[in-house]
Amino acid sequence: MNAPHPSSRRPTWLEIDLDAIQHNFAMARQAVAPGVQVYPVIKANGYGLGAVPIAQRLTEAGADGFCVALVEEADSLRRAGVTLPMVLLSGLTAGVEEAVATLHLRPFVANTDRLLPLHQAARQRPVSLFLKVDTGMGRLGLAVPKVMAAVAQVKALPNLHLAGLVSHLACADEPDHPTNVKQRLCLDQVLAQTGLTGSSVSLANSAALLSRSANHYAWVRPGIMLYGASPFFPASTGREIGLRPVVRWCTRILQVSDLPTGATVGYGQTFVTQRPSRIALLPVGYADGYNRLLGNQAVVLVTGQRVPVVGRVSMDMIAIDVTGLPAVTVGQPVTLLGEEGEAFIDIEEMAAWRGTIPYEVLCNVGERVPRYYG
Ligand SMILES: *Cc1c(COP(=O)(O)O)cnc(C)c1O
Repeated sequence: MNAPHPSSRRPTWLEIDLDAIQHNFAMARQAVAPGVQVYPVIKANGYGLGAVPIAQRLTEAGADGFCVALVEEADSLRRAGVTLPMVLLSGLTAGVEEAVATLHLRPFVANTDRLLPLHQAARQRPVSLFLKVDTGMGRLGLAVPKVMAAVAQVKALPNLHLAGLVSHLACADEPDHPTNVKQRLCLDQVLAQTGLTGSSVSLANSAALLSRSANHYAWVRPGIMLYGASPFFPASTGREIGLRPVVRWCTRILQVSDLPTGATVGYGQTFVTQRPSRIALLPVGYADGYNRLLGNQAVVLVTGQRVPVVGRVSMDMIAIDVTGLPAVTVGQPVTLLGEEGEAFIDIEEMAAWRGTIPYEVLCNVGERVPRYYG
């Protein structure tokens, strides 16, 4: 995959290593006991990397099912022939009930108002659902005092099957945070109250999965770890915890210019050359998800060397300072993210440069950047 892809119409592209995703999936599998099911999270188009090829590969690798956020995401996976069980994480919005039934989705339900419409949509074939409980995250979920009534409501509707209770940890990325224990105790209490202890319970994202077996319950929902980034950012990188890097974002030099001392580069003249400089332009910009905050911050790899991004990031272009690098030519490959020989730029490093988390770096790679799989 290292050579620029011949069919790339744009000289800016993303290489996705499906073997690495499979390796990371195997790590999730190994971290849980044999009976615990693993449902890879491939919402937001597989964190921007392409949900369909990832689902196909992880189906072969033995995934038990998948998690998505939206009905639209599930629909495109079903159309591509993905038949495994599919969980809808983001709750039910009015009007999606029919699609949930036809696509055989298992929704997280956090609002009992949606139960009756879902029951009606499920007249042909029962729908399995999970009640989402807010055990302390303070986001999507039924408040604990409402769970008993919700369970009774679901049980009274014959077209609906209550698969189990689910919840989500607020501080899973800090394994020793006291809130993790509190949320687990809360979930266990609700399970005991409702008599659902043995049902299909789920709590763990990547961080929770990797940190404590007490978080595992019946099935786990790893996302970010599959894509090679550490769920414990900024405490570690994926590579440090044994994950394989998945992504390489590449481009090719568009122009090389020799500028005198005191010349300025780009909008707002935010970079001024301090010496006679060789500046190369790259055909990637914020419209591709190369965030504007990376201007005068990031580095890229040219022939395995780290060189700085200079000046502001434009919509379609950035400039890099290649002064002193021998034989930099138009068309030469450049690595924006990922490995180039021994050198690498990790997702965590790019996230830190722009003040965000690895999730957002991946999700923001623009749709116009072609993806290639190897
Ligand atoms: C996105 C998501 C996950 C996956 O989280 P990672 O941190 O990427 O592993 C798990 N559960 C829910 C409810 C989610 O929304």
